[in-house]
Amino acid sequence: MSSNFLVVLGYILANNMKTMKKLLMMILICAPFLTVAQEQEYKERFEQLGSMLPTPNSYRTASGAPGENYWQQKADYTIKVKLTESSNKITGSETITYYNQSPHPLNYLWLQLDQNMRAEGSDSELVSNATFFNDTIPAKYLEQYVANGGSSYDFPGGFNIESVKNAEGEDMDYLVQKTMMKIRLPQTLKPGENISFSIDWNYFVNDRMKGGGRSGFEYFEEDGNSLYTIAQFFPRMAVYNDVEGWQNKQFLGSGEFALTFGDYDVEITVPDDFIVGATGMVQNPKEVLTKEQAKRYEKALKSTEQTFIVTEEEAIENEKDKSTNYETWKFKAENVRDFGFAASRKFIWDGQMVELESTKPFAQSFYPKEGNPLWEKESTKAVKNTLVLYSERTFDYPYPQATSVHAASIGMEYPMICFNFGRPDENGEYSVRTQLGMTYVIVHEIGHNYFPMIVNSDERQWAWMDEGLNSFLESNVMFEYYPDLPYSDNIPQAVTGYMKSSKDQQRAIMTNPEQVLRLGPNAYSKPAAALNLLRNTIMGPELFDESFKAYAQRWMFKHPTPADFFRTMEDASAVDLDWFWRGWFYTTDHVDISVDEVKYFRIAQEESDMEKNANAPKGDLGEGETEELNTDFSDGPSYISVSNTPDFWFGEYRSKVDDDAIKARYADKHFYEITLSNEGGLVSPLLFTIEYTDGEKEEKYIPAEIWRKNEGKTRKMLILDKEVSKIVFDSEGDLADTDKSDNVFPKEEGKTKLDKFKEKGE
Ligand SMILES: [Zn+2]
Repeated sequence: MSSNFLVVLGYILANNMKTMKKLLMMILICAPFLTVAQEQEYKERFEQLGSMLPTPNSYRTASGAPGENYWQQKADYTIKVKLTESSNKITGSETITYYNQSPHPLNYLWLQLDQNMRAEGSDSELVSNATFFNDTIPAKYLEQYVANGGSSYDFPGGFNIESVKNAEGEDMDYLVQKTMMKIRLPQTLKPGENISFSIDWNYFVNDRMKGGGRSGFEYFEEDGNSLYTIAQFFPRMAVYNDVEGWQNKQFLGSGEFALTFGDYDVEITVPDDFIVGATGMVQNPKEVLTKEQAKRYEKALKSTEQTFIVTEEEAIENEKDKSTNYETWKFKAENVRDFGFAASRKFIWDGQMVELESTKPFAQSFYPKEGNPLWEKESTKAVKNTLVLYSERTFDYPYPQATSVHAASIGMEYPMICFNFGRPDENGEYSVRTQLGMTYVIVHEIGHNYFPMIVNSDERQWAWMDEGLNSFLESNVMFEYYPDLPYSDNIPQAVTGYMKSSKDQQRAIMTNPEQVLRLGPNAYSKPAAALNLLRNTIMGPELFDESFKAYAQRWMFKHPTPADFFRTMEDASAVDLDWFWRGWFYTTDHVDISVDEVKYFRIAQEESDMEKNANAPKGDLGEGETEELNTDFSDGPSYISVSNTPDFWFGEYRSKVDDDAIKARYADKHFYEITLSNEGGLVSPLLFTIEYTDGEKEEKYIPAEIWRKNEGKTRKMLILDKEVSKIVFDSEGDLADTDKSDNVFPKEEGKTKLDKFKEKGE
């Protein structure tokens, strides 16, 4: 912007008495709307995050990248587990080799015992806030809602730890502390050392249809078979890192997992007519499959066409007889943070290879006949679509396979395998809603392979780091691959209801998931909508995608924190987003920008133009009365007379200022001064749809820095070639503005801000 131009604008404000008067009036009029509390509250929205972020160090740098001394632990597992069908019991033994790659000596280790959430008297149940909110509750909910996954329904849940032994087979000293287990080491585990120890355990698998849960079984009465989705089934190493030390916060049910990477060698023993899907690749397909199936499996791995390994006919035949002989499926997985599996004699199994730029993972699905015809049509396809888009936006899927398993009523993720709802009715018919739900849950849970299975954030502390980032990419898959499904989640327009709801019902995104009041909007849709806003409107797809990819690639197979994400997004883009993180992630403010007034100016060409201003109706103001703001353009423009620049301005180059040329340049322009209030507290960029009197439309984007000196009120002058008939703020809802009624000028139905204020006050 040239300095000459500023001179003109300065004159508009300084030399026009009517403008001055209106400005004064505006201040008077607006005073009641900004309470003292609001004014204070609305300061510092543009301060840098500064001390709110942890001090950078040699583990985590100020750029958001891992530092030169970044370290993380490693835990390798050899697990043998048996699923006894008659008793629904898991019996297991594991050997964990734990590598202390930290610079610290360790005297004890912490492991997670998640099944203990289901043990009698568990904290999950004791601290449940469940109450009857009205006088009727469906029987099913009574069990699930009041019991809250605890012991109120008659079920002997929880791990039974049989033994903990060192490499020599001697008993080790340990403490079960609710959902965590501490192993007291006889000797300090020094930096660079590793230790192997073995645990034997058993537990009863929960019936998901009774007590709910992320894992468990569903029993099908018609054929007397169960479908097992088994996870959190073994004692797992907690994370020890530079940020938390041991992440040993108890598992209450909402805050998920913080787990260490390692290699897994797992043997799963099940009835010999079961089909098993799991984390990793099956090592002995020829032993556990029929000859024909093993051949199809080999073919499927290399085919980009959907290939059936177990057909529906075979599955229906298979579920009729119940073998009591057992056989062992062997799996291996490298560099994963967890292990899950699914087993049933009901499984149909299909798969196909997906060609990514540098990898060729196998997309596969396991489902009972009850999932068809929907599942054979949509599941593996959804896995493939997810891998393609997520890989474009982050890194090529590094694992050899990705599995979608059909499990009623849940969506739950583990490395390379996830359990997903979406079932047609008994006749195989399904609604668009069912197809939509099934599709996005598969996209979402497969997407979790990237966040948090590979970009391994701490779910127990920050649910949004995996759920929010993942829901954002989920929405991008849905919009790109499923434009015909009625998907409208995780975008700015979808969260306005939540964001303007009572602040008693909200917590900032930067809140532990156990304290969050509504986990869905809080950890999923609000952060996802924020990222869609950031990508589509504030940064633009190119800059956003490059920065998001930088974050994903910097932290793949590592443990990032929120600051690493916030910092990388700025570091890679040169966009100052501190105000954005501050507003969207650290507060419960919402976007509500009001277009208070639009003033229209033109440059007077003749003396008579100025007289039009004098004739404009003013009304007689009595004592205590204030002039009303413009509500429309009916008064026409106010005229500005542009005088010659005084000699004492720009004295040193006054001779170079061509007043006539400046006047000529702006003679035909239309000046619009828009006054805006920030009523929701969350600062927002400005996006105007401008309609001209000739019927044409134009969009104008103004970055959020327009608010940097006053977060409560701002003005913007637009200099346009044509006369405007209408200006609308956030006409499409892309900025998540929660109150559309004050976004339009001319004001609709002649409502002034004062009217609205009075209405609100009643
Ligand atoms: Zn999720």
